[in-house]
Amino acid sequence: MHRYDLISCHDCGVLHQHRPLRSREKARCVRCRSILYRGIHPDAGRMAAITLAALFTFLIAQFFPIVELEVGGYNSSATLLGAIRVLWTEQMQLVAVVVFLFTILLPAVELGSLLYVTMSLRAGRRPPGFDHLLRAVGMARRWGMTEVLMIGILITIIKMTSLAEVVLHPGLFAFGALTIMLAIVVSFDPKTLWNIGEHLPGPRRVAQKTFKYAALVKGAPLLACHACGLVESLKYTVRHQYCARCGASLHRRRPDSVGRTWAFLLAATILYIPANLLPVMYTHSLFGKEDDTIISGVVFFWNSGSPGLAAIIFIASIVVPVAKLAALALLAWTAQRRSRWRPLQRTVLYRIVEFVGRWSMLDIFVITLTVALVRFQSLAVITAGPGALAFCAVVVLTMIASMQFDPRLIWDPIDTHGEKHA
Ligand SMILES: [Zn+2]
Ligand SMILES: [Zn+2]
Repeated sequence: MHRYDLISCHDCGVLHQHRPLRSREKARCVRCRSILYRGIHPDAGRMAAITLAALFTFLIAQFFPIVELEVGGYNSSATLLGAIRVLWTEQMQLVAVVVFLFTILLPAVELGSLLYVTMSLRAGRRPPGFDHLLRAVGMARRWGMTEVLMIGILITIIKMTSLAEVVLHPGLFAFGALTIMLAIVVSFDPKTLWNIGEHLPGPRRVAQKTFKYAALVKGAPLLACHACGLVESLKYTVRHQYCARCGASLHRRRPDSVGRTWAFLLAATILYIPANLLPVMYTHSLFGKEDDTIISGVVFFWNSGSPGLAAIIFIASIVVPVAKLAALALLAWTAQRRSRWRPLQRTVLYRIVEFVGRWSMLDIFVITLTVALVRFQSLAVITAGPGALAFCAVVVLTMIASMQFDPRLIWDPIDTHGEKHA
């Protein structure tokens, strides 16, 4: 057995041996049932082609206007970058930076790095910077939110049809196509690419001879790299251990996981109050000035005959953040008490929290586009309010809180047998 054949479950830490799967088969953890890997035939050439197509679509989506509004002889159109620039000029620089990161920079980093890596692997070599780029892909993927933005665009369009004539532009269709392509690109697992690259010539961090399975079997506890999945023995002699393959720092459990989770959770909970009380948008129109909070946005859709949209925004902006804060508090509290209560259900809860967290950004994207589109000098102008800043901070802080939590802590008190394997 080769050492790359060892896989540590990212949710509970149990060690498994890799075996080849048929297409569309899934390998699940024996203890917590999380998916370890899928039976996809790694073909770097095919990955490069799809990534290239996605990158082209990304550029079209960024440079063409998404929608145009026409009202009483005035018209205004918006590109994503233009919308972000409007936020920036309206003293909402922090929100503008966050939206820029999640919808432009990180998807660009993901696609650009993947294209470079897959093209090189297809040509049969490991490119310089291989490890850093693959780690960047993993990081960019956790924060990139193209699919959430797409739903945000659709909600904005439906909202605008009640106010003005809406003309759809190529940017909208490009975003639709990009969302579908990114759903395919997400299946290109960096861990698979690491394993392909392992057998190819090219610069590497350490000499090939150190990669020997024999080095593992000495009874020392094992550590799994969070970035590339490599399993290594714990070295008692060094203070900080780094992955021999990709250079990420290694920990048996994330350091001070529960304490940091509590800290971010507390900050998010405090900010949740102004996020709901302060206005997220101001409307200046011929009929006067109007303040909108998150809940009044929900009421607007409900009253204007779109209960479905009202429900989507209510769930994304109110139910999800509250449920997420409560779920993370429960996870942190039970992990702190080393509780043995329902570990499988708590692991599933953690997976749900990780999966739905990003969707809370929906309202921020709707605000970004609305502010950029409704700029009819004498008729109506909508600007962002301080509530949007607080709400944006709540979403980012809860996402960080859930990333700080180490789900393997749920299993530590249950199975001492697992301790020596994980
Ligand atoms: Zn597991
Ligand atoms: Zn690694």
